Amino acid sequence: MEGVTHADQLRLLAVHAHPDDESSKGAATMAKYVHEGVDVLVATCTGGERGSVLNPAMDRPDVLERLPEIRAQEMAAAREILGVGQEWLGFVDSGLPEGDPLPPLPEDCFALVPLEEAAAPLVALIRRFRPQVMTTYDERGGYPHPDHIKTHEISVHAFEAAADPDRYPDLGEPWQVSKLYYNMSFTLPRTKAIHEAMLAAGLDSPYAEMLQNWDPAKDISHRVTTRVPCGEYFGIRDRALIAHATQIDPTGRWFSTPMDMQQRVWPTEDFELARSTVDSTTPEDDLFAGIRSEVGVR
Ligand SMILES: [Zn+2]
Repeated sequence: MEGVTHADQLRLLAVHAHPDDESSKGAATMAKYVHEGVDVLVATCTGGERGSVLNPAMDRPDVLERLPEIRAQEMAAAREILGVGQEWLGFVDSGLPEGDPLPPLPEDCFALVPLEEAAAPLVALIRRFRPQVMTTYDERGGYPHPDHIKTHEISVHAFEAAADPDRYPDLGEPWQVSKLYYNMSFTLPRTKAIHEAMLAAGLDSPYAEMLQNWDPAKDISHRVTTRVPCGEYFGIRDRALIAHATQIDPTGRWFSTPMDMQQRVWPTEDFELARSTVDSTTPEDDLFAGIRSEVGVR
């Protein structure tokens, strides 16, 4: 075929709640597609303003004072490392409510914005960027943070609304995203496999307690339809994560499994195909399965 034109360029849009989520969920997959020439864009719903500092080395008053600004700089560094574009959808972090009873959510936060209004910037972005594939979280948010659940809700809403000329008529020409995926990388079988490999190698596994508390009824692995081989990009994923220095402790358990062990034991990132307008047979190993032939890209 001729050179890649706008019409046959593959485009992937990954929707995330906070700066750093893009580096912990599907990051190696994004790096792989960037390497293959796919145009990859991250949409970040909130600025992460209410996150706490999770890296002891960064837990200092001067950092806390300027947290939103620092998190934006960290996001810029991670975006460079991953080779992706990134846009802010402009909402304010809801924070993770803790306590019994749970405190009310802050008034200005993303989770409390009515759905129709909260999805509008994403609809506009979809119509402008025109991705064939979009990723987001499942209906439980992957984990129950109000911003993650809201991210799921606006993604499903925008997937449908962006294609409908009668909805949001002022936000650009309708665009039908072909496939919508949920990130599914944190499954019981994967954690178990890594835990067992670490023990077999005589290493301390950080996962024993997590596995003990893991209710098998809440495991989502049976929903996985798509496993993207991306082990050779795990190093880029880790560098992007470490760029979020206020959120990630480089000496923490994220990084305790040797790279070659991760690549051998679980060399994929996993997804559930939630919506599709194209024919593709699951299980798949490519988010663009069923799309490449349509746009003339191999
Ligand atoms: Zn998050």
